[in-house]
Amino acid sequence: MQVNITSKCNLFCKHCHINAGLNRHEEMSLETMKHVIRLLPNFKILDITGGAPEMNNNYRWLIDNAINSGVHVMTRSNLVIMNESGYQDLPEFLAERGVEIVCSLPFYSENDCDRQRGSGTFKIIISMLKKLNALGYGLSEKLPLDLVYNPGGAFLPPNQSSLEREYKARLKSEHNIEFTNLFAITNNPIGRFREFLDRSGNYDKYMKRLFDSFNPEALPGMMCRFQISVGCDGRLYDCDFNQPLGLAIDEPDNISKVNNISQLTPRKIKFADHCYACVAGNGSSCGGTTA
Ligand code: SF4
Ligand code: SF4
Repeated sequence: MQVNITSKCNLFCKHCHINAGLNRHEEMSLETMKHVIRLLPNFKILDITGGAPEMNNNYRWLIDNAINSGVHVMTRSNLVIMNESGYQDLPEFLAERGVEIVCSLPFYSENDCDRQRGSGTFKIIISMLKKLNALGYGLSEKLPLDLVYNPGGAFLPPNQSSLEREYKARLKSEHNIEFTNLFAITNNPIGRFREFLDRSGNYDKYMKRLFDSFNPEALPGMMCRFQISVGCDGRLYDCDFNQPLGLAIDEPDNISKVNNISQLTPRKIKFADHCYACVAGNGSSCGGTTA
């Protein structure tokens, strides 16, 4: 189960598919989180995302209760937030509970990272990665630390394994940083990335690139076939990309109405043109390539 617990974010990245920022105020309530916890025994993994999920006041409550349910918990983080007042003890909090951390690092060079995420972000992320390494993250099997690459423009990601080797070599030699896995994610043509494509006159070209790279071998690994995505207000979606497009599941339309997991599966997935981003080239999901 993937839960989007806030659209609020301390950053304003250019590629953000949900238009997150400090100007957004949607937040998952404690009541909705209780429904998440109620249904969790039916799932293996809870994947917590946002916005910056840490900015939801009940973030720690959700983690503690999910762990008590026996599922593996992973949290997405931009890491910059962990440098801000009120969040600085989060690395220790997450390490003590064995929470997997997935951090977006668009590239291993300062210029490329700062261009997408904002000036000064690279240096903070590097210092946070060092702190996480010192706690055992990225070094111990019990504390996975994953990085996310996404292209800095209207092109597809390169091969994930080669890129992972490149990231590992560069981060080790230049910063003495280690991490577990690299996830290469294709930019989905929605949200701020869609706005960029429109502004730069690249939308048609990008969509054609996705259509032309359609890979049937990526179909079995589409993440919508194995997960459910819960929005801040409890509405249910096939994936996080369908949320900003308003492509919610018809029935049941809210997690509060789910009494039995069989109500959600099998179901018809809501597809649209943006889905080509998941099945182009090596395939793409929140966990990286799929083919
Ligand atoms: S991409 Fe992530 S860190 Fe950047 S603005 Fe969106 S939610 Fe925040
Ligand atoms: S194929 Fe479409 S519905 Fe499935 S995960 Fe991708 S964007 Fe979501």
